[in-house]
Amino acid sequence: MDCKREIPVLISAEEIAAHIKELAARIAEDYRDSPGLTVVCVLSGAYIFMADLVRAVNMPLTMDFVRAKSYDGTTSTGTVRVELDIKTNIAGKDVLLVEDILDTGRTLLALKEIFLTRAPRSVKTAVLLDKPARRTAAIAADYRCFEIPDLFVVGYGLDCDEQFRELPYVGIFTQT
Ligand code: 5GP
Ligand code: MG
Repeated sequence: MDCKREIPVLISAEEIAAHIKELAARIAEDYRDSPGLTVVCVLSGAYIFMADLVRAVNMPLTMDFVRAKSYDGTTSTGTVRVELDIKTNIAGKDVLLVEDILDTGRTLLALKEIFLTRAPRSVKTAVLLDKPARRTAAIAADYRCFEIPDLFVVGYGLDCDEQFRELPYVGIFTQT
């Protein structure tokens, strides 16, 4: 893989910033009466989106971080395991799960189900990107910035073997 090659732009840094601003305003409005909002970043891909989103949401909130790994296995559903759990007690709180991309939906559905067992007031999801063409799990994002076609994308936190996360835009990755 040639790491120095150009990654073509799918969504520019300016478009991302504009959509995050809109999303943040909706979130602040929807949660204005919340008794406590905990925003949970799904590591690692969502960390840049999370950082920009929380700085644009004009209301008090707390943050935490979770890491999940999904195994493909032989079954169509596969399994998702939590590798790093949140430390926050979310009982009675509103939880907003922030993820980079909703693909099959397995990761976010599994995390949502795990968090729902902890007596939160609500669990909602916010994703930067949504690839509905590949959805297998019964989940739709409550908030999303962009719907994209079935392409493998990198940048703005998303990687290919830990590379390209630092790109300020979302680009299209193609094998060379
Ligand atoms: P899901 O459980 O929805 O299938 O998986 C979502 C995870 O798969 C994302 O958090 C991300 O790590 C990875 N993923 C899915 N599509 C892409 C993509 O186009 N680019 C990158 N870099 N990761 C992706
Ligand atoms: Mg991810």
